[in-house]
Amino acid sequence: MEREKIHFDVLFIGGGPANLAGAIRLMQLAGEKNLNLEVALIEKGADIGSHAVSGAILNPIALNELLPDFIERKCPIETTVRKDEFYFLTRNRHFRLPFIPRYMHNQGAYIISLSKFTKWLGRIAEDLGVNIFPGFAGKEVLFAPDQKTISGIRTGDKGIGKDGQPKDNFEPGIDILAKVTVFGEGARGSLMKEVAEKLGIFAGKMPQVFEIGIKEVIQVHEDNYFSSSQGNDIHTLGYPLGMSTPGGGFIYEMKDNQVALGFLIGLCYQDCMLDLYDQFIKFKRHPFVTDIIKNGKVLEQGSRAVSTGGFFTIPELVVDGGVFVGACASMQNTPGLKGIHASMKSGMLAGEAIIAGFEKGVFNRETLRVYRDLFENSWLKEEVFEGRNFSQAVSKKGLIKFFHLGLQYFTKGRGIKDNMPLKEDYKTLRPKKSRFEGVQEDTEKTPLDGNLCVDKLTGVYLSRTIHREDQPSHIIVHDKDLCVSECFNTFQSPCTRFCPGEVYEIEIDERTSRRQLKLNPSNCLHCKTCDIKDPYKNITWTCPEGGEGPGYTIL
Ligand SMILES: Cc1cc2nc3c(=O)[nH]c(=O)nc-3n(C[C@H](O)[C@H](O)[C@H](O)COP(=O)(O)OP(=O)(O)OC[C@H]3O[C@@H](n4cnc5c(N)ncnc54)[C@H](O)[C@@H]3O)c2cc1C
Repeated sequence: MEREKIHFDVLFIGGGPANLAGAIRLMQLAGEKNLNLEVALIEKGADIGSHAVSGAILNPIALNELLPDFIERKCPIETTVRKDEFYFLTRNRHFRLPFIPRYMHNQGAYIISLSKFTKWLGRIAEDLGVNIFPGFAGKEVLFAPDQKTISGIRTGDKGIGKDGQPKDNFEPGIDILAKVTVFGEGARGSLMKEVAEKLGIFAGKMPQVFEIGIKEVIQVHEDNYFSSSQGNDIHTLGYPLGMSTPGGGFIYEMKDNQVALGFLIGLCYQDCMLDLYDQFIKFKRHPFVTDIIKNGKVLEQGSRAVSTGGFFTIPELVVDGGVFVGACASMQNTPGLKGIHASMKSGMLAGEAIIAGFEKGVFNRETLRVYRDLFENSWLKEEVFEGRNFSQAVSKKGLIKFFHLGLQYFTKGRGIKDNMPLKEDYKTLRPKKSRFEGVQEDTEKTPLDGNLCVDKLTGVYLSRTIHREDQPSHIIVHDKDLCVSECFNTFQSPCTRFCPGEVYEIEIDERTSRRQLKLNPSNCLHCKTCDIKDPYKNITWTCPEGGEGPGYTIL
């Protein structure tokens, strides 16, 4: 098929903070050096920000470097952190922890909505001359004839029917070619996986690991918890996960009497019966949390994986014709629960390296490795390096994790053993028979009230997720028989519990009375948990048609 080809100097894949900051830095430097660059940025969401989910506490360090006049430019800040509060939750009680680790000191940082923030960054990038194309999903990586040099990407076809045949409105994807392609797809990028398989960028590294976060913005009354509390940055640990599964909750004050509330769970969890969405509801139902959000109304809900592996999981940062930034390159301050500033800084460093490439007119590994060198000498490296053993420590069971965390705290991340091993998340589930003893048998679902605690499908509705039904599934289950036989018998189909969007259901076929997997890909929130956690690696997440998926505005 003849496909349209468009050429740019630099192409950014993904409109998250990493790439937007990278594109802005690139254009700032190009302006200073009188370089006339044609730059494009594609985003699979219908708008910049529509697929953005975060907490979010913003450490402004990278923003200050990028746009020192961000206040005058009306950066959408919800509020400033007045005071941090950290609680340990038991089933019915809460205990204020007297000590908050230094990396979670957020006083003076900003509370933002990542959707609003990226929209704002997008406008600045556009004003600097970046061609922004929302509604375009990068579906395939294009390589030069040497099969080693990245030459761009192909966007997804639009208007294909469920039978795989083009419909009347068919539009073939286009080939966007560039001298340098910047991958900023966020945690578990689908194109990154392709590059990794072909070029081995993760060879010799520890496997990337993830948490999943489910988040809501809740409208509360004018007279609410935060109107009388100094603390407006609340973190919790303990209930409902206990001490054997990493994770915890956050509650942040937003403006206009809104509250950002979310719950994160380490995808290294072992209990195959754990229902992730139910854990989120249990957290909301805790008396301490309920008191903060009482009489409230959920305005928006969303979900997204976070890349938490840190330093040892960083891939090769450059290849011929390509660089990797942000969460897809493990740029995250894991102990501090913050990745926005880290992603931004990595994008900015990549922007500087690309300019150096243009000055030489060469875009191979050697010239682009300036990015790696800049990273090595940056505050970012220092931060990410300090958290290098953190995920390993929190994945330990029971109180032993605190022993590791304590030692790491006083040895700048080294701990008892540097380079602690990490296990890939898909390998950690235990078969149903030998359920992990540390987790209580608790399969009863927490009651929902349809208003403040909504079910998964209402959550999907509140995420404004839309996918055209009549298209091939963008979620590929390689062997459906495996799902209803071995996976069901061993793990009781964990996909029905790890997916927050009810994409996966096991039902009985009325005709044959046999179990079958029912897929509802139109509910997909693009969190990527299925691609990460399926114990048989039987699920591959790919981008649906550009412009589909969630429609977040305030997450
Ligand atoms: C619940 C939760 C709470 C968090 N809390 C905080 C916090 O308080 N503070 C903090 O600093 N960090 C926080 N983080 C982490 C932070 O949000 C991430 O580290 C950061 O957003 C990563 O930025 P990024 O640009 O690399 O990726 P993302 O923000 O994920 O952006 C990637 C973009 O690329 C697009 N994309 C992906 N693939 C393609 C493709 N093939 N084609 C086109 N477009 C594509 C996506 O739609 C998305 O818009 C939190 C994360 C979560 C989920």
